[in-house]
Amino acid sequence: MERKKPLDYYVEYFPGEKWNETKGTMYRHMECKRCGQMSKCSENITAVTCSDCVQEIMNDAHGGPEAYGKTSTGRPRGWKWMQLYVDKDGTVFHRGEEQPELKGTLPPSVIKDKGNRLSKKEKEKIKQEAGSRLFKLKKQYKGLRWKKDKKTHSNTSNTYKKRLNKSESHCFLR
Ligand SMILES: [Zn+2]
Repeated sequence: MERKKPLDYYVEYFPGEKWNETKGTMYRHMECKRCGQMSKCSENITAVTCSDCVQEIMNDAHGGPEAYGKTSTGRPRGWKWMQLYVDKDGTVFHRGEEQPELKGTLPPSVIKDKGNRLSKKEKEKIKQEAGSRLFKLKKQYKGLRWKKDKKTHSNTSNTYKKRLNKSESHCFLR
């Protein structure tokens, strides 16, 4: 039978006082094997690394806390969903997946300013088009006889009515 090794680290019991501890209960604490700071641990623990040290070790391993921060890629919104996206350095992506063998074979994707927003002129054109189509539909409606035809008709009309609204004018005419 293996003899129980004496502990290498200093242990002390402190009464619970934190929000998640029971008042009057003694909690076992052990010195951190790295920095010596007392850290709460359970009875069967023989060595402890305190949370501060764990954080430090993690930061060292992963390039510091700034490694967790978001870094801008300089790529346009939705580039991951694009069939083909070529980065400024020539890296080619197919639906967000890097294609190393294609690097440098294609010109970098041209990113339009302000995403895919339409210009004022384009919006006006869409509204005009929607207006005239709506007008034609209204004339047609009088000639409709069947209920199902009327329903389809009013659905189409609603689409154009929405397009006439400013909020919907980004829709493309189909
Ligand atoms: Zn420590």
